[in-house]
Amino acid sequence: MNCPRCHRDNVEVHTEFKWGYLNLIRYEIGDEIEWAKKGRMNRGARTESERIIHGYSECRACLKDFWTAIQIKNNRIVGMEVNHTKPPLIPDDNA
Ligand SMILES: [Zn+2]
Repeated sequence: MNCPRCHRDNVEVHTEFKWGYLNLIRYEIGDEIEWAKKGRMNRGARTESERIIHGYSECRACLKDFWTAIQIKNNRIVGMEVNHTKPPLIPDDNA
């Protein structure tokens, strides 16, 4: 994806998000969500339809953080967008 901090294109981004049992798991776009594999737990979190969950991401190029909105469909990650409404935790170098 395009990093909102260093503005490089197609950088590798690591994203973590919290769901149910405090799992912090790294995913790539296209991955199946862990709760789909452990269907008995977290039943309420499973979804067949589309939903947006919020994640915390780190750019592997500049190591700056930002918040993301992750699009889930049929228990797979289908897309990720930068959430510009939440300020990042790591300040800019020249801040
Ligand atoms: Zn970056």
